[in-house]
Amino acid sequence: MLIPDITIAVDGFSSTGKSTFARLIAKHFDFLYLDSGAMYRGVTLFAQEQGLIAPDNTVDPSLEKALETLDLHFEAGTVLHMGERNIEKLIRTMEVSSQVSPIAAVPYVRRYVDGRLHAFAASGRVVMDGRDIGTTVFPNAEIKVFLTARPEVRAQRRFDELAAKGENPVFEEVMKNLQERDYIDSHRETSPLRRAEDAFVLDNSEMGLTEETAWAEGLIRGKFGLLDAPEEGYAG
Ligand code: C5P
Repeated sequence: MLIPDITIAVDGFSSTGKSTFARLIAKHFDFLYLDSGAMYRGVTLFAQEQGLIAPDNTVDPSLEKALETLDLHFEAGTVLHMGERNIEKLIRTMEVSSQVSPIAAVPYVRRYVDGRLHAFAASGRVVMDGRDIGTTVFPNAEIKVFLTARPEVRAQRRFDELAAKGENPVFEEVMKNLQERDYIDSHRETSPLRRAEDAFVLDNSEMGLTEETAWAEGLIRGKFGLLDAPEEGYAG
């Protein structure tokens, strides 16, 4: 299906399958996929390596200046690099997950990431996932999706992901981390996680990838008048 160069924003709580969904759309419709969470994870890894975040999550204010030298970018589309270094694996550990939300609540960190994201997305035809894409980063995105899923389904997904990567996750810890991140992400002052009023909501607790693709295709066709928009999940 030929669709124009638009921006698609995919937001939602942790481990609702945003990146899987966004990647799927990108592949299906030939869009660039950008993972904004990876950027926050990259900044967190940087702060940890520089010793700028304490175990109690206090952030050293010198991080602001240090960010001027931080080169985070994607190679081969989706592989996050810090300078020359591939940090894709390092940013997905529990260590980074446990401090990413406090870092992402810092206003100058958000400014840094937003600036990078806008530069990456300059050419348009982008699908980006995160927490504030439809509300703050691209409030004019032509299509906005807000994903949800039941907490136990989300925790199981993250648990399986970590186990597949050879980590030794503990289910209760994974669940606790998701709940903590959701809480901090939804309650921070700058760009809190919330559904944009014009976002379509999809609860994918019981859905497989084929169904998600069909839903997305229906949504996009509907938007461009190629077919009626799907009623299921519509919350606009
Ligand atoms: O998407 P992912 O779970 O990898 O994101 C990691 C963290 O980055 C989130 O828990 C949230 O604190 C932060 N984040 C954010 N805004 C975004 C994307 C991610 O605050 N747009």
